[in-house]
Amino acid sequence: MAYEIACRDQNCQQVTWCRNVADLIRNRRNKDGFFVCGHCQGLGYVPKEFTT
Ligand SMILES: [Zn+2]
Repeated sequence: MAYEIACRDQNCQQVTWCRNVADLIRNRRNKDGFFVCGHCQGLGYVPKEFTT
């Protein structure tokens, strides 16, 4: 199952797709644990809920 990160930046608003939850957790978070947009490196969020 793929996951998406939606960007919070109004000037970007791109969606970043992750192949799986491992990719999401390992590669798409910053040092503070927030999800990061793959386009602008700004903060994003995952619209769909999931459990780890
Ligand atoms: Zn962005």
